[in-house]
Amino acid sequence: MSPQYPRTHRFGVRRSVFLTQLVMAVCVLTLVVILLIVDIDVVSEISFFLGVTLVFALTALAATIDWERVPSWTIGVIPVLDIIAVTLMRLNQPTITVALFYAFPVIWLASYFRRWGAVLGPSLASVLYIVLIVSETSKFSAVDLPRTLVLPITFAFVATAIYQSRTRAQAQRVILDRQSGLLEAALERSRRGEKLLDEVLNAVRFGVVRMDENGRAVFTNDAHRLWMRSHDQPEWRLGAEHLYAADGRTLIPEEERPFARAARGESFRDVVVWMGDPDAEERLAFAITGHRLDGADGDVSGSVVVSRDITTELQAVKARDDLMASVTHELKNPLTSVTGFVELAVDAPELSETTRHQLEVVLKSSDRMLGLVTDLLEASRAAAVGLKLTKAEMDLADVARDAVEAARPSAGSVDVRCDVVEPALMVGDAFRLRQVLDNLVSNAIKYNRPQGSVVVRIAEDGECLELTVTDTGQGLTADEVDAVFARYYRAPSAGSVGGTGLGLNISRDIVRQHDGDITVTSEPGLGSTFTVRLPRAMAQLEEQR
Ligand code: ADP
Repeated sequence: MSPQYPRTHRFGVRRSVFLTQLVMAVCVLTLVVILLIVDIDVVSEISFFLGVTLVFALTALAATIDWERVPSWTIGVIPVLDIIAVTLMRLNQPTITVALFYAFPVIWLASYFRRWGAVLGPSLASVLYIVLIVSETSKFSAVDLPRTLVLPITFAFVATAIYQSRTRAQAQRVILDRQSGLLEAALERSRRGEKLLDEVLNAVRFGVVRMDENGRAVFTNDAHRLWMRSHDQPEWRLGAEHLYAADGRTLIPEEERPFARAARGESFRDVVVWMGDPDAEERLAFAITGHRLDGADGDVSGSVVVSRDITTELQAVKARDDLMASVTHELKNPLTSVTGFVELAVDAPELSETTRHQLEVVLKSSDRMLGLVTDLLEASRAAAVGLKLTKAEMDLADVARDAVEAARPSAGSVDVRCDVVEPALMVGDAFRLRQVLDNLVSNAIKYNRPQGSVVVRIAEDGECLELTVTDTGQGLTADEVDAVFARYYRAPSAGSVGGTGLGLNISRDIVRQHDGDITVTSEPGLGSTFTVRLPRAMAQLEEQR
């Protein structure tokens, strides 16, 4: 296989050949000019003249031939002819050390024509040079040997060194080429992946904004962009003007807005915000999730904000609550009068035992129905106007004891105990917290097994009180535990036990209004423990005083 003449990184083969030969021509020209200046008359020597002319002719040839179109080995003809030209210039001119010019073609051949170039260059130059020396010396003796061999040895050394460094450079280039090929393939793969991701993100119906570590948007998907455009939003951030919290009334301060929080590297989930003033006709609600992105070194490398338009969803929930409120309101009055009159009728002395028993069943059922209706009414009222608390210093232990006492008559075979001794003082709304306890204790009885037990305990934990209601009932699965506080949720395990699925939701709202929290741990088949953690908030009371 003929060697491929290499291109330099800037020039094509043609320019590369010409420039290499030009260096030789410039040096020869310089020598001629110097010789003319110092008036050494060698230029008129025919062989010298021929040699110089050959160098210039070769330079012209190098410039005119399109070397890309001819086989690469033909380029080697130029340095070979250069060696002949130097020999002609040196012929009969031992005084000017023009033989050093052999170095140019020797280096050229060793650089670009591989092994055969590295051998041919110094061999040809050495043979011609030795022939010159021998022909010039009338009686060649051993004394002439060193001066004859110095240049050929030098050429051999230079050619070998250049050949070796070329070979090494070529091997490195092969490795580099391979690496750059791998890099390019990896880059292409990642580009394709990024394109695919962009296409997917642009196909979804929720807004996606990716922010860099300085909180600037570096990617905004089509859904978000379209949404911003159609609502005349000047900025990519949602709610450049006013943004309200989930209740639709509380203005969110600038630094607490979801996009500002995400820019600070916070992560959050489904934060509900309203855009547009409370009295505006067209308002929009969004559920916004922010996710912080960590860089390789663990630093924040930006964040992703996903916004979902939930206006229709919330409108549907509101419509359901409105309907529920009006229906339950209408039901409550007739039910109250039914319960009242049946209560009176039960006590009438003239009743037979059978009728009294039947009326007691009616009374129990209407009591239960009144309880359900009250729950529903309570829930829709809380959703519409929020819970109003009246806080004062109170004893949570008293509330727990009273709730347990009140639940006992309806507990049947379930044993209900209250392990509370100390007064558990705190600041809170005793009426609302009793509602929480009633709900937890009645659930613990309702979802218990016959002869099971319910224990209510209160423990102190620093500035908090921890109330637990533990039962030995059917328990809840992990999925049920996650969903149990959602509105209208009733676990499949509740079976035919009556209920609305609102009690725990209302309880959680009440506890949260006290800046506390309610959690549940459960073991299916063994029972559940509901834990209510409430700050005692006694310091607040001191401050108010
Ligand atoms: P309700 O009891 O009226 O259905 P709740 O909001 O009080 O509504 O409870 C929601 C659901 O949680 C119930 O339907 C029941 O499935 C489950 N649950 C509540 N408390 C318990 C408990 N102590 N043991 C097992 N399941 C429970």
